[in-house]
Amino acid sequence: MNDLSIRASVGFEPAKEVFAGQHLIDGAWVDSASGATFERVSPSHGVVVSRCAEGGEAEANAAIVAARTAFDSGVWSRISGKERAAVLLKVADLIEANVERITLQEVLESGKPIAQARGEVSGAADHWRYAASLARGVHGDSHDTLGADMVAMVLKQPIGVVSIITPWNFPFWILSQKLPYALAAGCTCVVKPSEMTPASTVMLGELLIEAGLPAGVCNIVLGYGDPVGSVMSTHKDVDMVSFTGSTRVGKLISKVAADTLKKVALELGGKNAQVIFPDADLDEAADAVVFGTYFNVGQCCNGSSRIIVHKDIAEDFVARVVALSRDVRFGDPMDEATQVGAIVTAAHNAQIHKHVQAAQAAGAKLALGGGPLVVDGLSDQFYQPTVLIDVSADMGAAQDEIFGPVLSVMTFDSLEEAVALANGTDYGLSAGVWSSNMHTCLEFSRRAEAGTVWTNTWMDGYPEVTFGGAKQSGQGREIGRYGFEEFFEVKSVVMRVGEKSRARWVTKET
Ligand code: NAD
Repeated sequence: MNDLSIRASVGFEPAKEVFAGQHLIDGAWVDSASGATFERVSPSHGVVVSRCAEGGEAEANAAIVAARTAFDSGVWSRISGKERAAVLLKVADLIEANVERITLQEVLESGKPIAQARGEVSGAADHWRYAASLARGVHGDSHDTLGADMVAMVLKQPIGVVSIITPWNFPFWILSQKLPYALAAGCTCVVKPSEMTPASTVMLGELLIEAGLPAGVCNIVLGYGDPVGSVMSTHKDVDMVSFTGSTRVGKLISKVAADTLKKVALELGGKNAQVIFPDADLDEAADAVVFGTYFNVGQCCNGSSRIIVHKDIAEDFVARVVALSRDVRFGDPMDEATQVGAIVTAAHNAQIHKHVQAAQAAGAKLALGGGPLVVDGLSDQFYQPTVLIDVSADMGAAQDEIFGPVLSVMTFDSLEEAVALANGTDYGLSAGVWSSNMHTCLEFSRRAEAGTVWTNTWMDGYPEVTFGGAKQSGQGREIGRYGFEEFFEVKSVVMRVGEKSRARWVTKET
């Protein structure tokens, strides 16, 4: 099957060419000096869908110089919040006008279902609008009780040049959880999308220019983590790295960034649990578990990859989850009805299967699935909806981020035990509790070691509500007021305003 037939088969106008992406450096679209390019093959259809300039150290350095120069010039960092907000609002409008174009390319590169990709792209506009509202509300402290001739102010100033490094699984959404907030604060940026999903970031770059963002304020370098991401994490002219991706790479960035003591904000992996008490609405809970497990083909930091269910209802609840899982609509991500698409790479599909086999070898049993899935006419990068039961806390299936459509089921007797199981991993991204007893919900929420706890719901997100991870799921916060605060440096300005001498060292002769 070639590129044209994929698009034609789902009713899109056949594109004449594979998407071509260049770097955006100092307001200009450029190829790499070396002429190198890299390709992305669609996970679901197995054909090349984008070909982009492959950046090296030269491009990363040039982008950082452009961002530094733009920051120091004040062209963005020292204009009013009102002016910055106007640009961000225009970007939001332009995103909405370009949803279909961006969505299409994101589906082809990622393998996620088109309806979910559309929600991701159109929903991202809300972050740009919310960030615009924050741009006009930056304020620090003042101190007027220091003495008659003294006054002090604590100013909040943009931290400077921010490196933004994003993962493949929600490329447009995650960029929009970072970039508008950094820009609203007055920072300038260098962005590197994942080598697997570069197109939507390039498209956003086009919209930034159309919206009037000055040259050099947002630069984009395409390519691999090493060398591009490495330069972005170590360069002395970068003041902060905002990274979303795996815990492995997050730790690496944290180590190399330490040499220049730049600020590092990390959004990393998770092994999130939903805890189900017997007094919960079990229909609602089962629906949320299935949604949480298979959304984005299970490749979601907030995936509910564990359920911890009370022993008295375990059999009934698993039966409900299995029944719903059987109905999940797998298939061509370009089909509007598809709920679960392809796994991002063949290697990752094989890795998912290894996890499932290891769990079985350790004593877990399959209630559903457990192997690769054949979908007629598509690639071999699909995996069956899989439910593992009899999972114990020491198994990899209870500890490791599998990042696929795989659910591990554990059981509990008491709230105490549920809390211990939920907290019993190195991760701490999110957790959920289902009960009609608000005391149970509150008690669990207070004791869960997680950046977010959902009660009687799962994965609702709002720009206003900050997000981030505890333990090895991250450091710092993103979105909301707390996320916005990450992009500032705080400066204390202490002023003597009286005319009386305050000489404290040199004694003047009288
Ligand atoms: P990844 O860590 O492999 O890659 C993320 C980004 O880091 C990519 O752009 C990659 O090119 C870059 N990179 C790789 N090596 C680098 C290096 N040495 N220096 C600098 N940059 C480097 O992650 P992925 O596979 O793209 O994404 C999946 C992971 O992201 C999962 O673990 C998932 O849980 C996590 N994630 C977390 C959140 C969150 O908000 N907590 C959201 C989405 C995804």
